[in-house]
Amino acid sequence: MANAIAKKRIALYGSTGSIGTQALEVIRANPALFEAEILTAQTNEELLIKQAMEFKPNAVVIGDETKYQKVKDALALTDTKVFAGEAALEEVANFDGYDMMLAGIVGFAGLKPTLKAVEKGKAVGLANKETLVVAGDIVMQKAMENRAPVIPVDSEHSAIFQCLVGEGRNKIEKIILTASGGPFLGKKPNFLVNVKRDHALQHPNWSMGAKISIDSATLMNKGLEMIEAKWLFNLQPDQIQVVIHPQSIIHSMVQFEDGSIKAQMGLPDMKLPIQYAMAFPQRIKNNFPRLEFKKYPSLTFEEPDVKTFRNLALAIEALNKAGNMPCILNAANEIAVWAFLRNRIGFLDITAVVEQAMEKVHFIENPTLEEYFETDGEARNFAASLIKM
Ligand code: NAD
Ligand code: MG
Repeated sequence: MANAIAKKRIALYGSTGSIGTQALEVIRANPALFEAEILTAQTNEELLIKQAMEFKPNAVVIGDETKYQKVKDALALTDTKVFAGEAALEEVANFDGYDMMLAGIVGFAGLKPTLKAVEKGKAVGLANKETLVVAGDIVMQKAMENRAPVIPVDSEHSAIFQCLVGEGRNKIEKIILTASGGPFLGKKPNFLVNVKRDHALQHPNWSMGAKISIDSATLMNKGLEMIEAKWLFNLQPDQIQVVIHPQSIIHSMVQFEDGSIKAQMGLPDMKLPIQYAMAFPQRIKNNFPRLEFKKYPSLTFEEPDVKTFRNLALAIEALNKAGNMPCILNAANEIAVWAFLRNRIGFLDITAVVEQAMEKVHFIENPTLEEYFETDGEARNFAASLIKM
């Protein structure tokens, strides 16, 4: 009998988050294909411990060092090694014993461990879009040098990736990123000025972590995704178009040189792009609910309102300007969203903070990795000073 195919050992970064827990569902449903080799979490030690008990990883990392002893004690009778702190995320990413990192940390914090994985030549299933927004040139360059496949998990980019399978060297004319429009589609500034956190967190089609939910409500998420797409698919800014598609059935499209357009469709469920990235190039049978066209008699499309949702306009500006501008945009946005989630600033203030950071923080045309880190720090401090944190 032929040997069983070796299981793919997954280093699941951000295992307690929305992406992380859904990735564990995929692993749980496919024990013959995947195992969790590494799990990491920032603060939710209870869930990390529970996950470690179930999935028996080789190592876990708890970001918050004050929680190290608790995790260590809870896993004392297991074979799981316990690490803590930010540096441990990179240290563990440097291990040999995994096949793919699933990068599900949110924000800039995901950059260093992801970079370590590509430097090791590991495959990366990339959910953490901020990694490419901040330092896409360096990350993709290192991935190429080390032959580390970067497979998108973000649903739009997974859609594009799936549309490109089998196309060889056929050229892309443009890609069309679809956006649901978020919970405030059609609203105007006089409404948005009073929007509160809990309302902004209610996404019509997707259930996600807090930061990306706010980014979806402001349309910053689509701007970050344009920048992410530029790096993943090696595109010029004018080849990346956004269209609002409120039903979230078409996850994105590729238009080729002959004008033909391919779309990838399905119900909005992140488990599909997660499992596609993990199993690529295979597809895995599953029992996720199927799309029934008769339940969606019309799929509609409209222009994004960038005059109201100015974050998208700012992100396009950063995309065009390049250099460290997307890094500035991202850092200021992370601080502003953090403050909005704590009711410290209003919804429209998020845009004001990002815009001012883009004007004031020192622009660098060809930053080194070190300069990206410095820019991130500078932009965070500047944004925080506006909010008086
Ligand atoms: P989340 O907030 O639900 O989870 C974030 C995870 O990262 C948690 O496990 C948390 O412990 C960890 N984390 C947070 N801050 C950290 C830090 N400073 N250091 C180390 N770990 C830290 O977020 P999410 O919604 O799962 O999103 C994760 C990433 O995936 C984001 O970049 C997001 O844009 C992207 N993404 C998410 C979705 C989705 O449906 N949730 C869809 C597409 C892309
Ligand atoms: Mg997306």
